[in-house]
Amino acid sequence: MRTDPSVFTEPARPEALQLRFVTVGGSYVDVTSPGHDSGKHRWTCHGCKDTSHFPEQDYLHSIRSKANEHAGLCRAIPLT
Ligand SMILES: [Zn+2]
Repeated sequence: MRTDPSVFTEPARPEALQLRFVTVGGSYVDVTSPGHDSGKHRWTCHGCKDTSHFPEQDYLHSIRSKANEHAGLCRAIPLT
């Protein structure tokens, strides 16, 4: 069963936010960085609190698919 994302409130969007994916659990995975062309993108899941493990090495073209893949698997619901 898929949780309807609309039952949860979207968190505030930080200034460094580049992309946001909704998860199957109804939470969000954020991709943040100092800038669009930065090589220091990282992803963080609001549901399970997992994050990318080597943020200094991730460019947007690399981390986009990793963040989207996590969003497609994570069933943790947002607790705040
Ligand atoms: Zn997660």
